[in-house]
Amino acid sequence: MVDLVIKNANIVSEYGIFQGAIAIKDGKIAALGRDDSMPPATETIEANGHYLLPGGVDPHVHIRYPGGAHREDFTTGTWAAAAGGATTIIEHPISSPPQYSTDILLNRVNAVKEQAIVDVAFLGAAGGEKLDHIRPIAESGIVGYKTFLHAAPEGREKEFIGLTMKDNYELFKGFQEAAKTGLPIAAHAEDNDVVSGLIAEFRAEGKTTPIYHARSRPAVAEVLAVERLLRMARETDAELYLVHISVPEAVRLAAEARRKGQRVFIETCPHYLLLTEAELEKHGPYAKCNPPLRTSEEIEAMWECVAEGLIDTIGSDHGPFTIEEKEKGYPDIFAAPAGFPGLEVRLPLMLTAVKENKLSIQRAVELLSTNPSKIFGLYPRKGALRVGSDADIVLVDMETPFTVDQNMMLGKSKGIAKVYEGWELYGRVVKTIVRGKTVYCDGRIMADPGYGEWLRRD
Ligand SMILES: [Zn+2]
Repeated sequence: MVDLVIKNANIVSEYGIFQGAIAIKDGKIAALGRDDSMPPATETIEANGHYLLPGGVDPHVHIRYPGGAHREDFTTGTWAAAAGGATTIIEHPISSPPQYSTDILLNRVNAVKEQAIVDVAFLGAAGGEKLDHIRPIAESGIVGYKTFLHAAPEGREKEFIGLTMKDNYELFKGFQEAAKTGLPIAAHAEDNDVVSGLIAEFRAEGKTTPIYHARSRPAVAEVLAVERLLRMARETDAELYLVHISVPEAVRLAAEARRKGQRVFIETCPHYLLLTEAELEKHGPYAKCNPPLRTSEEIEAMWECVAEGLIDTIGSDHGPFTIEEKEKGYPDIFAAPAGFPGLEVRLPLMLTAVKENKLSIQRAVELLSTNPSKIFGLYPRKGALRVGSDADIVLVDMETPFTVDQNMMLGKSKGIAKVYEGWELYGRVVKTIVRGKTVYCDGRIMADPGYGEWLRRD
Protein backbone atom coordinates (compact mmCIF):
# COMPACT_ATOMS: atom_id res chain seq x y z
CA MET A 1 0.00 0.00 0.00
CA VAL A 2 1.37 3.41 -1.01
CA ASP A 3 0.16 6.89 -0.01
CA LEU A 4 -0.56 8.33 -3.42
CA VAL A 5 -0.76 7.32 -7.06
CA ILE A 6 -0.94 9.90 -9.85
CA LYS A 7 -2.17 8.21 -13.00
CA ASN A 8 -2.82 9.02 -16.64
CA ALA A 9 0.04 11.52 -16.81
CA ASN A 10 2.60 12.30 -19.51
CA ILE A 11 5.66 11.61 -17.43
CA VAL A 12 8.90 13.33 -18.41
CA SER A 13 11.69 11.25 -16.91
CA GLU A 14 15.40 11.34 -17.61
CA TYR A 15 14.99 8.26 -19.80
CA GLY A 16 12.09 9.39 -21.93
CA ILE A 17 8.48 10.49 -21.96
CA PHE A 18 5.78 7.94 -21.29
CA GLN A 19 2.09 7.85 -20.53
CA GLY A 20 1.64 6.31 -17.11
CA ALA A 21 1.63 6.67 -13.37
CA ILE A 22 3.82 7.42 -10.39
CA ALA A 23 3.44 6.04 -6.87
CA ILE A 24 4.52 7.87 -3.71
CA LYS A 25 5.17 6.50 -0.23
CA ASP A 26 6.55 8.35 2.79
CA GLY A 27 7.38 11.39 0.68
CA LYS A 28 9.53 9.41 -1.76
CA ILE A 29 8.88 8.08 -5.24
CA ALA A 30 8.01 4.39 -4.83
CA ALA A 31 7.27 3.34 -8.41
CA LEU A 32 6.94 4.60 -11.97
CA GLY A 33 5.21 2.70 -14.74
CA ARG A 34 1.99 1.87 -16.52
CA ASP A 35 -1.28 2.85 -14.86
CA ASP A 36 -2.26 -0.80 -14.34
CA SER A 37 1.09 -1.70 -12.76
CA MET A 38 0.68 0.59 -9.73
CA PRO A 39 0.32 -0.76 -6.18
CA PRO A 40 -2.91 -0.01 -4.25
CA ALA A 41 -2.93 3.54 -2.84
CA THR A 42 -4.67 5.51 -0.10
CA GLU A 43 -5.29 8.35 -2.57
CA THR A 44 -5.34 8.46 -6.36
CA ILE A 45 -5.07 11.58 -8.50
CA GLU A 46 -6.28 11.51 -12.12
CA ALA A 47 -3.83 13.67 -14.12
CA ASN A 48 -6.06 13.89 -17.23
CA GLY A 49 -3.06 13.59 -19.52
CA HIS A 50 -1.28 16.62 -18.07
CA TYR A 51 2.51 16.60 -18.12
CA LEU A 52 4.20 15.41 -14.95
CA LEU A 53 7.71 16.81 -14.42
CA PRO A 54 10.23 16.70 -11.60
CA GLY A 55 9.62 19.75 -9.42
CA GLY A 56 11.60 22.78 -10.50
CA VAL A 57 14.94 23.51 -8.85
CA ASP A 58 15.41 27.26 -9.25
CA PRO A 59 19.16 27.89 -8.96
CA HIS A 60 18.90 31.67 -8.57
CA VAL A 61 16.45 33.22 -6.10
CA HIS A 62 16.66 36.23 -3.79
CA ILE A 63 14.34 36.19 -0.77
CA ARG A 64 15.65 39.25 1.21
CA TYR A 65 14.35 38.29 4.69
CA PRO A 66 15.17 39.42 7.38
CA GLY A 67 16.61 42.85 6.49
CA GLY A 68 14.50 43.22 3.35
CA ALA A 69 11.34 41.44 4.53
CA HIS A 70 9.23 44.23 3.02
CA ARG A 71 10.40 42.94 -0.38
CA GLU A 72 10.00 39.18 0.22
CA ASP A 73 10.08 36.70 3.08
CA PHE A 74 10.37 32.92 2.96
CA THR A 75 6.59 32.46 3.10
CA THR A 76 5.69 34.72 0.19
CA GLY A 77 8.81 33.73 -1.74
CA THR A 78 8.06 30.02 -1.46
CA TRP A 79 4.38 30.61 -2.28
CA ALA A 80 5.65 32.17 -5.48
CA ALA A 81 7.99 29.20 -6.00
CA ALA A 82 5.14 26.70 -5.58
CA ALA A 83 2.93 28.69 -7.96
CA GLY A 84 5.76 28.52 -10.51
CA GLY A 85 6.28 24.79 -10.06
CA ALA A 86 9.56 25.10 -8.14
CA THR A 87 9.86 22.64 -5.26
CA THR A 88 13.42 23.66 -4.37
CA ILE A 89 14.98 27.11 -4.46
CA ILE A 90 18.62 28.02 -4.08
CA GLU A 91 18.82 31.33 -2.26
CA HIS A 92 21.52 33.82 -3.19
CA PRO A 93 22.62 36.23 -0.53
CA ILE A 94 21.63 39.76 -1.30
CA SER A 95 19.95 40.13 2.02
CA SER A 96 20.68 42.29 4.98
CA PRO A 97 22.96 40.90 6.24
CA PRO A 98 24.18 38.41 3.60
CA GLN A 99 25.14 34.98 4.98
CA TYR A 100 28.92 35.32 5.14
CA SER A 101 29.02 33.73 8.60
CA THR A 102 27.51 30.63 10.18
CA ASP A 103 25.44 32.73 12.64
CA ILE A 104 23.80 34.70 9.87
CA LEU A 105 23.22 31.55 7.84
CA LEU A 106 21.59 29.69 10.74
CA ASN A 107 19.34 32.66 11.45
CA ARG A 108 18.06 32.40 7.88
CA VAL A 109 17.81 28.60 8.16
CA ASN A 110 15.49 29.13 11.15
CA ALA A 111 13.39 31.44 9.03
CA VAL A 112 13.06 28.67 6.42
CA LYS A 113 11.91 26.24 9.12
CA GLU A 114 9.23 28.70 10.26
CA GLN A 115 8.14 30.23 6.97
CA ALA A 116 8.85 28.15 3.88
CA ILE A 117 6.48 25.79 2.04
CA VAL A 118 9.03 24.44 -0.46
CA ASP A 119 12.60 23.33 0.22
CA VAL A 120 15.42 25.85 0.38
CA ALA A 121 19.19 25.58 -0.01
CA PHE A 122 21.57 28.48 0.53
CA LEU A 123 24.65 29.84 -1.13
CA GLY A 124 27.08 31.47 1.26
CA ALA A 125 28.50 34.94 0.65
CA ALA A 126 32.19 35.00 -0.28
CA GLY A 127 33.94 38.34 -0.28
CA GLY A 128 37.23 40.13 0.15
CA GLU A 129 36.25 41.83 3.40
CA LYS A 130 35.43 38.53 5.11
CA LEU A 131 38.10 36.15 3.83
CA ASP A 132 38.35 34.42 7.22
CA HIS A 133 34.74 33.35 7.01
CA ILE A 134 34.86 31.70 3.60
CA ARG A 135 36.08 28.29 4.70
CA PRO A 136 34.19 27.99 8.02
CA ILE A 137 30.80 28.67 6.44
CA ALA A 138 31.24 25.67 4.12
CA GLU A 139 30.90 23.43 7.19
CA SER A 140 27.48 24.91 7.94
CA GLY A 141 25.73 23.29 5.01
CA ILE A 142 25.77 25.79 2.15
CA VAL A 143 25.60 24.33 -1.38
CA GLY A 144 28.02 26.82 -2.93
CA TYR A 145 29.21 30.43 -2.77
CA LYS A 146 28.09 33.67 -4.35
CA THR A 147 30.26 36.62 -5.15
CA PHE A 148 30.24 39.86 -7.15
CA LEU A 149 33.09 41.55 -8.99
CA HIS A 150 31.90 45.05 -8.27
CA ALA A 151 31.66 47.17 -5.15
CA ALA A 152 28.28 47.42 -3.39
CA PRO A 153 25.73 49.55 -5.27
CA GLU A 154 25.21 53.02 -3.82
CA GLY A 155 22.94 52.98 -0.77
CA ARG A 156 22.83 49.17 -0.56
CA GLU A 157 26.17 48.61 1.24
CA LYS A 158 24.58 46.53 4.05
CA GLU A 159 23.15 44.01 1.60
CA PHE A 160 26.59 43.36 0.12
CA ILE A 161 28.79 42.91 3.22
CA GLY A 162 31.26 40.10 2.58
CA LEU A 163 29.73 39.48 -0.84
CA THR A 164 32.08 41.28 -3.21
CA MET A 165 35.57 40.78 -4.58
CA LYS A 166 36.15 44.24 -5.91
CA ASP A 167 39.67 43.85 -7.37
CA ASN A 168 42.04 41.14 -8.57
CA TYR A 169 43.71 40.79 -5.18
CA GLU A 170 40.41 40.07 -3.44
CA LEU A 171 39.39 37.78 -6.28
CA PHE A 172 42.61 35.79 -6.02
CA LYS A 173 42.42 35.43 -2.23
CA GLY A 174 38.69 34.75 -2.19
CA PHE A 175 38.86 32.11 -4.92
CA GLN A 176 41.81 30.43 -3.19
CA GLU A 177 39.80 30.13 0.03
CA ALA A 178 36.59 28.99 -1.62
CA ALA A 179 38.38 26.50 -3.88
CA LYS A 180 39.75 24.65 -0.84
CA THR A 181 36.20 23.63 0.08
CA GLY A 182 35.42 22.13 -3.33
CA LEU A 183 32.10 24.01 -3.48
CA PRO A 184 31.06 25.81 -6.67
CA ILE A 185 31.44 29.60 -6.74
CA ALA A 186 28.51 31.39 -8.34
CA ALA A 187 29.80 34.64 -9.74
CA HIS A 188 28.05 37.71 -11.09
CA ALA A 189 30.11 38.62 -14.15
CA GLU A 190 30.24 42.33 -14.93
CA ASP A 191 33.39 44.43 -15.07
CA ASN A 192 33.24 47.14 -12.42
CA ASP A 193 35.58 49.62 -14.15
CA VAL A 194 33.57 49.71 -17.35
CA VAL A 195 30.21 49.91 -15.60
CA SER A 196 31.00 52.47 -12.92
CA GLY A 197 32.90 54.64 -15.40
CA LEU A 198 30.00 54.71 -17.84
CA ILE A 199 27.44 55.41 -15.12
CA ALA A 200 29.48 58.38 -13.88
CA GLU A 201 29.87 59.66 -17.45
CA PHE A 202 26.15 59.36 -18.28
CA ARG A 203 25.07 60.95 -15.03
CA ALA A 204 27.42 63.88 -15.59
CA GLU A 205 25.87 64.36 -19.03
CA GLY A 206 22.32 64.06 -17.71
CA LYS A 207 21.76 60.81 -19.63
CA THR A 208 19.59 59.08 -17.07
CA THR A 209 16.62 57.81 -19.09
CA PRO A 210 16.00 54.03 -18.86
CA ILE A 211 17.87 52.98 -22.00
CA TYR A 212 21.11 54.32 -20.49
CA HIS A 213 20.96 51.45 -18.05
CA ALA A 214 21.64 49.09 -20.96
CA ARG A 215 24.25 51.46 -22.45
CA SER A 216 26.12 51.60 -19.13
CA ARG A 217 26.56 47.82 -18.99
CA PRO A 218 27.65 46.83 -22.53
CA ALA A 219 28.28 43.23 -23.59
CA VAL A 220 32.04 43.74 -23.28
CA ALA A 221 31.67 44.34 -19.52
CA GLU A 222 30.28 40.81 -19.17
CA VAL A 223 32.85 39.27 -21.51
CA LEU A 224 35.78 40.90 -19.66
CA ALA A 225 34.49 39.65 -16.33
CA VAL A 226 33.97 36.11 -17.65
CA GLU A 227 37.54 36.07 -19.01
CA ARG A 228 38.89 37.16 -15.64
CA LEU A 229 36.74 34.69 -13.70
CA LEU A 230 37.70 31.78 -15.93
CA ARG A 231 41.38 32.63 -15.56
CA MET A 232 41.16 32.98 -11.79
CA ALA A 233 39.12 29.80 -11.39
CA ARG A 234 41.70 27.92 -13.45
CA GLU A 235 44.53 29.39 -11.38
CA THR A 236 42.95 28.38 -8.08
CA ASP A 237 41.29 25.16 -9.30
CA ALA A 238 37.87 26.48 -8.33
CA GLU A 239 34.57 25.25 -9.71
CA LEU A 240 32.87 28.21 -11.37
CA TYR A 241 29.13 28.77 -11.84
CA LEU A 242 28.48 31.79 -14.06
CA VAL A 243 25.13 33.28 -13.10
CA HIS A 244 22.69 34.94 -15.50
CA ILE A 245 24.92 35.03 -18.57
CA SER A 246 23.29 37.30 -21.15
CA VAL A 247 25.89 37.56 -23.90
CA PRO A 248 26.54 34.75 -26.42
CA GLU A 249 30.26 35.58 -26.64
CA ALA A 250 30.52 35.01 -22.87
CA VAL A 251 28.75 31.65 -23.21
CA ARG A 252 31.16 30.56 -25.91
CA LEU A 253 34.23 31.59 -23.93
CA ALA A 254 33.08 29.54 -20.95
CA ALA A 255 32.04 26.60 -23.13
CA GLU A 256 35.48 26.61 -24.74
CA ALA A 257 37.14 26.56 -21.31
CA ARG A 258 34.93 23.61 -20.37
CA ARG A 259 35.86 21.80 -23.54
CA LYS A 260 39.49 22.14 -22.44
CA GLY A 261 38.64 20.51 -19.13
CA GLN A 262 37.77 23.38 -16.80
CA ARG A 263 34.92 22.90 -14.31
CA VAL A 264 32.54 25.68 -15.31
CA PHE A 265 28.74 25.88 -15.55
CA ILE A 266 26.61 28.45 -17.35
CA GLU A 267 23.27 29.80 -16.18
CA THR A 268 20.98 32.11 -18.09
CA CYS A 269 17.49 33.42 -17.33
CA PRO A 270 14.24 33.49 -19.31
CA HIS A 271 14.51 37.27 -19.71
CA TYR A 272 17.82 36.98 -21.60
CA LEU A 273 16.07 34.65 -24.04
CA LEU A 274 12.77 36.52 -24.35
CA LEU A 275 13.04 40.26 -23.64
CA THR A 276 15.02 42.93 -25.51
CA GLU A 277 16.35 46.24 -24.23
CA ALA A 278 13.29 47.87 -25.82
CA GLU A 279 11.48 46.81 -22.62
CA LEU A 280 13.45 49.55 -20.85
CA GLU A 281 11.68 52.14 -23.02
CA LYS A 282 8.33 50.55 -22.24
CA HIS A 283 8.66 49.68 -18.56
CA GLY A 284 11.55 51.84 -17.38
CA PRO A 285 12.95 50.71 -14.00
CA TYR A 286 10.56 47.72 -13.98
CA ALA A 287 12.68 46.26 -16.81
CA LYS A 288 15.96 47.09 -15.09
CA CYS A 289 18.05 44.03 -14.29
CA ASN A 290 21.78 43.28 -14.12
CA PRO A 291 23.15 42.42 -16.58
CA PRO A 292 20.72 44.45 -18.68
CA LEU A 293 18.36 43.14 -21.32
CA ARG A 294 20.14 42.83 -24.66
CA THR A 295 19.36 43.17 -28.38
CA SER A 296 17.27 40.80 -30.50
CA GLU A 297 20.45 39.65 -32.31
CA GLU A 298 22.00 38.62 -29.02
CA ILE A 299 18.81 36.85 -27.97
CA GLU A 300 18.78 34.85 -31.18
CA ALA A 301 22.41 33.86 -30.62
CA MET A 302 21.60 32.89 -27.03
CA TRP A 303 18.95 30.47 -28.35
CA GLU A 304 21.63 28.94 -30.59
CA CYS A 305 23.71 28.39 -27.45
CA VAL A 306 20.73 26.65 -25.83
CA ALA A 307 20.24 24.50 -28.93
CA GLU A 308 23.92 23.50 -28.94
CA GLY A 309 23.69 22.39 -25.32
CA LEU A 310 26.10 25.04 -24.04
CA ILE A 311 23.75 26.39 -21.34
CA ASP A 312 23.44 24.30 -18.16
CA THR A 313 20.68 25.94 -16.16
CA ILE A 314 17.86 28.48 -16.32
CA GLY A 315 17.45 30.50 -13.13
CA SER A 316 14.73 33.04 -12.47
CA ASP A 317 17.01 35.55 -10.70
CA HIS A 318 13.83 36.38 -8.76
CA GLY A 319 14.58 39.93 -7.61
CA PRO A 320 11.82 41.31 -5.40
CA PHE A 321 11.54 45.05 -4.70
CA THR A 322 8.73 47.45 -3.86
CA ILE A 323 7.01 49.83 -6.28
CA GLU A 324 8.39 52.75 -4.29
CA GLU A 325 11.95 51.43 -4.73
CA LYS A 326 11.48 50.91 -8.47
CA GLU A 327 9.86 54.34 -8.96
CA LYS A 328 13.17 55.93 -7.92
CA GLY A 329 14.25 55.09 -11.46
CA TYR A 330 12.24 58.06 -12.75
CA PRO A 331 13.86 60.37 -13.71
CA ASP A 332 17.23 58.72 -12.89
CA ILE A 333 17.34 55.07 -14.00
CA PHE A 334 20.58 54.58 -12.05
CA ALA A 335 18.74 55.28 -8.77
CA ALA A 336 16.45 52.23 -9.08
CA PRO A 337 17.47 48.75 -7.88
CA ALA A 338 18.05 46.05 -10.54
CA GLY A 339 15.85 42.95 -10.69
CA PHE A 340 12.26 41.84 -11.04
CA PRO A 341 10.19 38.82 -9.96
CA GLY A 342 10.65 35.60 -11.90
CA LEU A 343 9.75 32.62 -9.73
CA GLU A 344 6.15 32.39 -10.88
CA VAL A 345 6.86 32.54 -14.62
CA ARG A 346 10.15 30.66 -15.06
CA LEU A 347 8.53 27.30 -15.86
CA PRO A 348 5.62 28.52 -18.05
CA LEU A 349 7.93 30.83 -20.03
CA MET A 350 10.23 27.92 -20.84
CA LEU A 351 7.37 25.50 -21.49
CA THR A 352 5.89 28.02 -23.91
CA ALA A 353 9.26 27.94 -25.69
CA VAL A 354 8.86 24.14 -25.78
CA LYS A 355 5.44 24.60 -27.36
CA GLU A 356 7.12 26.85 -29.96
CA ASN A 357 9.68 24.10 -30.69
CA LYS A 358 12.62 26.14 -29.43
CA LEU A 359 13.71 23.23 -27.22
CA SER A 360 12.42 19.81 -26.21
CA ILE A 361 10.50 19.31 -22.98
CA GLN A 362 13.22 16.96 -21.75
CA ARG A 363 15.88 19.57 -22.36
CA ALA A 364 13.71 22.12 -20.52
CA VAL A 365 13.49 19.78 -17.52
CA GLU A 366 17.28 19.38 -17.50
CA LEU A 367 17.75 23.17 -17.50
CA LEU A 368 15.04 23.90 -14.95
CA SER A 369 15.47 21.02 -12.54
CA THR A 370 17.98 18.20 -13.08
CA ASN A 371 21.12 20.22 -13.86
CA PRO A 372 20.73 22.76 -11.02
CA SER A 373 20.21 19.85 -8.64
CA LYS A 374 23.36 18.09 -9.86
CA ILE A 375 25.56 21.20 -9.81
CA PHE A 376 24.60 22.14 -6.26
CA GLY A 377 24.90 18.63 -4.82
CA LEU A 378 21.21 17.84 -4.34
CA TYR A 379 20.91 15.06 -6.92
CA PRO A 380 19.34 12.47 -7.03
CA ARG A 381 17.27 13.49 -4.01
CA LYS A 382 16.01 16.50 -5.98
CA GLY A 383 15.41 17.07 -9.69
CA ALA A 384 14.81 13.43 -10.56
CA LEU A 385 11.79 11.22 -11.17
CA ARG A 386 13.42 8.08 -9.83
CA VAL A 387 12.47 5.48 -7.28
CA GLY A 388 13.88 6.69 -3.97
CA SER A 389 14.06 10.38 -4.92
CA ASP A 390 11.96 12.92 -3.03
CA ALA A 391 8.44 13.01 -4.47
CA ASP A 392 8.81 16.57 -5.77
CA ILE A 393 6.46 16.83 -8.70
CA VAL A 394 4.77 19.44 -10.83
CA LEU A 395 1.74 18.82 -13.02
CA VAL A 396 1.37 21.24 -15.92
CA ASP A 397 -1.26 21.91 -18.56
CA MET A 398 0.39 22.11 -21.97
CA GLU A 399 -2.88 22.40 -23.90
CA THR A 400 -4.75 25.43 -22.59
CA PRO A 401 -3.11 28.87 -22.70
CA PHE A 402 -3.39 31.28 -19.78
CA THR A 403 -2.65 34.97 -19.39
CA VAL A 404 -0.02 36.34 -17.00
CA ASP A 405 -1.78 38.58 -14.47
CA GLN A 406 0.31 40.28 -11.80
CA ASN A 407 -2.72 40.56 -9.51
CA MET A 408 -2.94 36.77 -9.36
CA MET A 409 0.68 36.37 -8.26
CA LEU A 410 1.54 35.31 -4.73
CA GLY A 411 4.95 36.90 -4.23
CA LYS A 412 5.17 40.11 -2.20
CA SER A 413 6.77 41.93 -5.12
CA LYS A 414 3.96 41.27 -7.62
CA GLY A 415 3.41 45.03 -7.92
CA ILE A 416 6.64 45.40 -9.91
CA ALA A 417 5.99 42.36 -12.16
CA LYS A 418 5.36 44.29 -15.38
CA VAL A 419 7.54 42.79 -18.10
CA TYR A 420 5.43 39.68 -18.81
CA GLU A 421 2.07 41.20 -17.89
CA GLY A 422 -0.63 40.10 -20.32
CA TRP A 423 1.54 37.48 -22.07
CA GLU A 424 -0.27 34.37 -23.20
CA LEU A 425 1.64 31.31 -22.01
CA TYR A 426 1.40 27.53 -21.93
CA GLY A 427 2.49 25.29 -19.09
CA ARG A 428 0.13 26.55 -16.40
CA VAL A 429 1.04 24.90 -13.10
CA VAL A 430 -1.90 22.76 -12.05
CA LYS A 431 -0.40 21.16 -8.97
CA THR A 432 2.90 21.32 -7.10
CA ILE A 433 3.88 18.46 -4.79
CA VAL A 434 6.77 18.63 -2.32
CA ARG A 435 7.89 15.38 -0.68
CA GLY A 436 4.53 13.79 -1.47
CA LYS A 437 2.36 16.62 -0.19
CA THR A 438 0.40 18.95 -2.46
CA VAL A 439 1.54 22.46 -1.56
CA TYR A 440 -0.18 24.29 -4.44
CA CYS A 441 -3.26 23.45 -6.48
CA ASP A 442 -5.04 25.62 -9.07
CA GLY A 443 -4.02 28.98 -7.65
CA ARG A 444 -4.29 28.02 -3.98
CA ILE A 445 -1.60 27.34 -1.39
CA MET A 446 -2.23 24.04 0.44
CA ALA A 447 0.64 23.92 2.98
CA ASP A 448 1.36 25.78 6.18
CA PRO A 449 4.49 27.90 6.58
CA GLY A 450 7.22 25.68 8.00
CA TYR A 451 6.50 22.66 5.79
CA GLY A 452 9.55 23.54 3.70
CA GLU A 453 12.89 22.07 4.70
CA TRP A 454 16.42 23.39 4.65
CA LEU A 455 18.58 21.40 2.23
CA ARG A 456 22.24 20.76 2.79
CA ARG A 457 24.59 19.46 0.13
CA ASP A 458 24.60 15.64 0.01
ZN1 LIG B 1 20.72 37.50 -8.62
